Amino acid sequence: MSTAAAYAVSAPDGAFEKITIERRDLGPHDVLIDIKYVGICHSDIHTARNEWGGTRYPCVPGHEIAGSVAAVGSAVTKYRVGDRVGVGCMVDSCGVCAPCLADEEQYCTAGSTMTYNSQVDPAVQPGGNTLGGYSTQVVVTENFVLRIPDGLELEVAAPLLCAGITLYSPLRHWDAGPGKKVAIIGMGGLGHVGVKIAAAMGAEVTVLSQSLSKQEDGKLFGASSYYATNDKQTFRELRSRFDLIINTVSANLPLDNYLRLLGLNGTLVILGLPENPLSVQPFNLAGYRRSLSGSMIGGIAQTQEMLDFCAEHGIGPEIELISADEIDGAYDRVVASDVRYRFVIDVSTM
Ligand code: NAP
Ligand code: ZN
Repeated sequence: MSTAAAYAVSAPDGAFEKITIERRDLGPHDVLIDIKYVGICHSDIHTARNEWGGTRYPCVPGHEIAGSVAAVGSAVTKYRVGDRVGVGCMVDSCGVCAPCLADEEQYCTAGSTMTYNSQVDPAVQPGGNTLGGYSTQVVVTENFVLRIPDGLELEVAAPLLCAGITLYSPLRHWDAGPGKKVAIIGMGGLGHVGVKIAAAMGAEVTVLSQSLSKQEDGKLFGASSYYATNDKQTFRELRSRFDLIINTVSANLPLDNYLRLLGLNGTLVILGLPENPLSVQPFNLAGYRRSLSGSMIGGIAQTQEMLDFCAEHGIGPEIELISADEIDGAYDRVVASDVRYRFVIDVSTM
């Protein structure tokens, strides 16, 4: 067993506190990672504040992890000490079900083991509850470790491990590319990376944000149009316009307004995971044979593909580096949509 410093919350309304946690001894296929940077995803906030229910405390969030390999188990073949690596939302899966065999471990029928707040054998994580990347070290089996290409700085790569793959996967699945009109709802952590990736794939990208306050940024990121959803005229003007709409909003939206912006056979994909149910008027699906779908992060192989794609296209998130004692304030700013565009914790401050 080794120990690591970590930042944890102990209750839904608790503040972050520094604690010491244990990490397991290295098994043959394990990699010990010195974490250098970890992004703050809105899912961390939903979990820390128990907005989805089921949070086990103390909770150490963090699934946008970038760092370097500190040690490897005896049978590890993919990584060596010193390699630049990342870890995303999953740290294990059954490996034998149909989704796992299809490289879609995020849909493992046995349930993938998430980087934090998953119940596991205490041999996997002392205490029996996975603890995430707001910590100085983590131990992960080599198949769930990603290689960070040389062209990406570690602090920029970190948010790609969740925000990047969560957008890349549906954009690929629904064939975003030349000739496709794609709209992204919400230009926060996920949304702004989505604008960059969709534009790099060659799609015509529109941002649907609450106001026009970030319009200039959206255009710089690659959007050709930018509309405010607090303006009713937006919904009249854009009726039946899009092939694909990706909803990254962390709060409940009136989905019918957005479904009506899809053309024939268009799809609205839900990525945002608000705590309360969403409702839909069936006529808005029947008309134009529209689809309503969802998507959860992406598989490990596709996450590597996404990192390589971002390095090749020079794409990365816009980040604001913070120290570990600034997490609480950063959470409040994310919830207030006051983030430009992803907070990343400098783990050396732990
Ligand atoms: P974020 O940085 O807070 O971005 C969310 C954006 O949604 C905000 O920047 C804002 O964009 C918009 N928004 C927020 N509140 C709104 C409201 N009341 N009405 C309308 N728009 C609002 O969060 P994130 O880290 O990108 O995560 C977004 C959501 O995706 C979260 O629910 C998270 O849990 C979920 N998520 C899902 C997956 C998955 O695999 N499906 C993976 C990661 C995260 P504007 O300022 O542009 O309006
Ligand atoms: Zn996330």
